[in-house]
Amino acid sequence: MSRFFSQKYNHLEAYTPGEQPKDMQYVKLNTNESPFPPSEKALKYAAQAAERLQLYCDPDCTVLTREFCKLYGLEKDEVLFTNGSDDALNFAFMAFCDDDHPAAFPDITYGFYPVFAALNRVPYTEIPLKEDFTINVDDYCGINKTVFIANPNAPTGIPLSLSDIEKILKTNPDNVVIVDEAYVDFGTDSAVGLIHTYDNLLVTQTFSKSRSLAGGRLGMAMGNRSLIQDLNTIKYSTNPYNVNSMTQAAGVGTILDDDYAKKNCATIAENRAYLTAELEKLGFVHTPSTANFVFAKHPELDGGGLYAALKERGVLIRHFTKERIKDYNRITVGTKEQIDILLKTIREIMEETA
Ligand SMILES: *Cc1c(COP(=O)(O)O)cnc(C)c1O
Repeated sequence: MSRFFSQKYNHLEAYTPGEQPKDMQYVKLNTNESPFPPSEKALKYAAQAAERLQLYCDPDCTVLTREFCKLYGLEKDEVLFTNGSDDALNFAFMAFCDDDHPAAFPDITYGFYPVFAALNRVPYTEIPLKEDFTINVDDYCGINKTVFIANPNAPTGIPLSLSDIEKILKTNPDNVVIVDEAYVDFGTDSAVGLIHTYDNLLVTQTFSKSRSLAGGRLGMAMGNRSLIQDLNTIKYSTNPYNVNSMTQAAGVGTILDDDYAKKNCATIAENRAYLTAELEKLGFVHTPSTANFVFAKHPELDGGGLYAALKERGVLIRHFTKERIKDYNRITVGTKEQIDILLKTIREIMEETA
């Protein structure tokens, strides 16, 4: 830290993204990316947009918004595109949290929430999940805080029902409830259909996981027009050009090729069933995931030890050191071939340590 770094960041501990090591070719199952390439239409449109990079991108994402709204049945002022959904989540912390509207989220959830809270100097409460890692909905009813819920949750993959989300919305009418649907396309009911019923509902989604555009950085927030207007005020006060023109074009191509993303999500759901069944045969236990990852532990294997042994052998998974979940690993659902390499490597490790 330099002697110039503002004191206001004294308590800021930056987020640690999943590792992207370049020392060898890994079977990469650690950051929940899609194992499938972007849609060909996305690649073609992005290449065309690259020819006009001397010009600023469209700050309103006009074409992208139009095509997206057609697909989702929304009005253009009910959605905001952002530089990945992390950007939208940060905007939500900036716009809807302060001393009178402190943030609240589970103790086990997306690790970026406490970082955004600290960055924006917003007080926050971490509400413990139940023993089985599910949310106790009553904990969130009438708490008068700005609620952040990842649905399905990360890193557990456990979904929350829309009726439970409605309870939280109804009992906190003076606070925004942000539902982070980064993994919704792999088999969870989306809350987007509720944005016309609840003026305090904001839903975020991303093209990073189900739509194979993690490196393109494209996310969005959806909500009633006044919430979106507030986010636009933040966006136009920070970086109006937060979604570059190649990414906007890639997003349009991806939406016009929606069947490709749907087909990939169906494949991931099949592969998830295969991976969990095979892990069970090896003695692992896991949470009931509706995401593109599985959260699993083995009664005889140390979580961090398994992570390290796999990495040594060229397979990357994600291990978290937080006390409550340190026995677990989060494993991205990859292709059938990637899963078979993972399983074979786990078997080898188990034989060696037996
Ligand atoms: C991956 C992820 C995001 C954001 O991803 P972006 O690439 O910024 O869109 C948001 N929330 C959760 C829970 C995630 O896992």
